[in-house]
Amino acid sequence: MNQRLGKLQTWMKENDIDVSFLTSSENVFYLSGYYTDPHERLLALVIFQDEEPFLVCPGMEVHDAKRSGWEHEIIGYSDIDHPWEMIRHSINKRINRVAKVAIEKEHMNVERYEQISGLFSTATFVSAEEKLRMLRMIKDAKELKVIEEACALADYAVEFGVSEIKEGKTELEVLNALEYALKQKGVTEMSFSTMVLTGANAASPHGNPGETKIQKGDLVLFDLGVVIDRYCSDITRTVAYGDINDKQKEIYDTVLKAQLAAIEASKPGVSAAEVDLTARHIISDAGYGEYFPHRLGHGLGISVHEYPSLTETNQLIIEEGMVYTIEPGIYVPNVAGVRIEDDIYITANGAKVLTKYPKELQVIK
Ligand code: MN
Ligand code: MN
Repeated sequence: MNQRLGKLQTWMKENDIDVSFLTSSENVFYLSGYYTDPHERLLALVIFQDEEPFLVCPGMEVHDAKRSGWEHEIIGYSDIDHPWEMIRHSINKRINRVAKVAIEKEHMNVERYEQISGLFSTATFVSAEEKLRMLRMIKDAKELKVIEEACALADYAVEFGVSEIKEGKTELEVLNALEYALKQKGVTEMSFSTMVLTGANAASPHGNPGETKIQKGDLVLFDLGVVIDRYCSDITRTVAYGDINDKQKEIYDTVLKAQLAAIEASKPGVSAAEVDLTARHIISDAGYGEYFPHRLGHGLGISVHEYPSLTETNQLIIEEGMVYTIEPGIYVPNVAGVRIEDDIYITANGAKVLTKYPKELQVIK
C-alpha cells in the first residue's frame, strides 16, 4: 500500500470512516497515481480501513490505469453497464457494515450523491476534502522536482512573451506566440487561461485578453502557468513598454518591495496571516491598501489553487515542504495594474524561489 493511502487510512480509522469514495481527478491521481479526465463518466477511488482499495473507471481506460502503476483492483464499466450496482457489489464483498462514508462534498454532484446514499441508506456522509487538502499541502521531493520543471517553463514563457512585445501588437497576438512557443517545447496544457493584459486592462486582476493593442507607456502584465506531469506552475510579471510615468513606477516599486518582503517572511513557524500582512502593510503604508483587493497567494500543486491560502486571517502555520505563490498586486483604474508573482518552496531555512524570471522593472524600448 502506498504511503499516501496509508495516511488516509489512518485518518479513516481515527474517525470511524468505513469507506472513502473519492471522485475528483486530482484526488484520485494523488492517491492512485492514475490521472484521467473522465468527462461526464464516473471515476472513483474506493478506500477501506484495511481491505483492498479499488478504482472505478470507464472500461476503455482500464489498460491505461494499469499502466499507470495502480496495483489493486480496477472496475471498468461500459457505457451500457450500471456502475453503481458494480460498486455496491465490490464494497459488500469487502465489508458488511457501512455506517460512515467520506466523499468529496464539494466535487460530488447531486445525482451521484443520490446514487451513493441510495446504496447505503443508513450511512452518514462526511467530507474527505479537508484531509486531502492537508495531505497534498506538503510536497515530497518528487513533486518538488516536477513543479520546478513547470516553473522553468513558465519562466521561458514569460521571457518569450516579453520578446514579442511590439507597438500595435494585440494582447492575443502576444499570447498566441508564447503558447505556440511552449507547444514547440512539448507543453500540452496551461495551468489556466493565459493572461496578457496591457494598459487599462492590466488594472483588472482577472482580465480577459483581447484585441487591445500595446502602446508606448503601457504596462504589460503576463500571468500564466504550465502543467508538467500533472503539476502546475503560476507566474506573473509586469513590464513597461516605453517610458512610464512616476506614479506607475511608484506602484511597481511598492509591489516589488511587498513581494520581496513576503518571500523573506516565509519560513516554517510563522502563520499564513503574518506572511500576507507583511506585504499588505507595505502596500497600505504606501497609500495603496484599497487597491490590493485579493489574498497574497495560494498553494499550488496538482491544482493551481490549493492549500495553504495566504490570507490576512489564516492562522495556519507555514511548514517545510509547502509550495505556494506570493503575488501582491496594486490595481488603480486608469493609472496602473501591477502584479508580481513567484512560486516558492519552504525549506527548513526559509523560501526557495522556484520561478526565476527577473523582477526589477524592465523598460522595453
Ligand atoms: Mn497567476
Ligand atoms: Mn496565482
